[in-house]
Amino acid sequence: PVVTRIAPSPTGSMHIGTARTALFNYLYAKHCGGRFLLRIEDTDRERSTEEAVQVIFDGLKWLGLPYDGEPTFQFARAERHREVVLSLLDQGKAYRCWLAGDELTAAREKAHAAGHALRSPWRDRDPSPADLAKPHVIRFRGPLNGDTVVPDLVQGAVTFRNRDLDDLVLLRSDGAPTYNLAVVVDDHDMDVTHIIRGDDHLNNAARQTLIYQALEWDIPAFAHIPLIHGPDGGKLSKRHGAAAVTEFADLGYLPESMRNYLVRLGWSHGDDEIFSDAQAIEWFDIVDANKGASRLDWDKLNFVNAHYIRQADDARLLDLVAEVFARRDTPLDAARREAALRTIPLVKERAKTIVELADQLAFVFRSRPIVIEEKAKGLLTDETRARLARLADQLAATNDWSAEALHELLQAFAASEGVGFGKFGPALRGILTGGSISPDLHRTLASLGREEALARLNDALS
Ligand code: GLU
Repeated sequence: PVVTRIAPSPTGSMHIGTARTALFNYLYAKHCGGRFLLRIEDTDRERSTEEAVQVIFDGLKWLGLPYDGEPTFQFARAERHREVVLSLLDQGKAYRCWLAGDELTAAREKAHAAGHALRSPWRDRDPSPADLAKPHVIRFRGPLNGDTVVPDLVQGAVTFRNRDLDDLVLLRSDGAPTYNLAVVVDDHDMDVTHIIRGDDHLNNAARQTLIYQALEWDIPAFAHIPLIHGPDGGKLSKRHGAAAVTEFADLGYLPESMRNYLVRLGWSHGDDEIFSDAQAIEWFDIVDANKGASRLDWDKLNFVNAHYIRQADDARLLDLVAEVFARRDTPLDAARREAALRTIPLVKERAKTIVELADQLAFVFRSRPIVIEEKAKGLLTDETRARLARLADQLAATNDWSAEALHELLQAFAASEGVGFGKFGPALRGILTGGSISPDLHRTLASLGREEALARLNDALS
């Protein structure tokens, strides 16, 4: 059975590239009816705080990518890693090395000058008991000649010359295993069959292949996917607007939008842009992943997000919008929640993000007398004021405050004045909302309610 995994290092944030790698691993496992595992690579003890680990749990949870079983913590397996290194040592497939500092630098330079990667002189030297008492590392005894081929499911067969792969350290002098060793042992012990990860690890795949061979273990299938770049082609970072999962969440992207957008980023199914999780699982195959780098496209992401906002339940949108207002230190009380819920159906058609949704319904919460933006104030000429006063009279006289009735009233009013909406609409919007963002005017009036709308008109016109 297929077993995939995501193996993030807890660094304090979860990059969107890690999210997509997790998604690909998740989809591939589910597509094959297999398992998707989580391994926390917490060997860097300084960075791997409890909070940093929590960020990964939260990120996967928010994204809706449940892993199977319990997470594996790499650091807790250090003893097992040491045991494996010692078995390689016993078999002569690894050796103790005392090369350090300037000596190490010189040996590396010498090796490079000779056209190959580092081989320590300790490779063929017998240590004395005195040496053994001194701190040292354990290195892999790599093959000097030949090639190592990584048959990558995305990149195709990638060939590495063994002479270019140095005798890498497996165990540090403090007894800590290195990344390449720990990954191989953990993936083997976790029965991982497919390693899907960023192509920045392609070189490591060659080294890991050599370690698998030395251990005489089955080698999992590798699939190295290109990293996500920013719109300008550079490595995606915060300067492109957002890079961490939490940043996308804070900007108001829904998790289902992120899933849908991220799977399309670096993989495609015909021209389909919008598809459900079930369709993604049905259609996704790692061999169809793109070889070329993908760029974050904000317009596309917004298009996808707008779609899922339109589909989303109003009560859920209300909770999300309430989070935005809470972050802005203007939490919604019960009355405001009710007003927001009334307004969400009127504005959700147009919002590309939850933050935009919040901005579009913020007008209902303004307390009177509302502050009218300068630009909107400028529209209130004497002529327009007089016209709006006539409209206010008509509004005060109507009994039907439904959006449809208000729509008819406004149209009849424009006709009777012999002008288009442009002549009074923006000014009316300014009075009702303080600015220029709100739904259609009849909807704006309806969602404010009769009393509040008439009071705002009165404030501005009297
Ligand atoms: N901890 C590594 C990373 O975060 C995992 C690499 C792998 O998937 O083997 O990049």
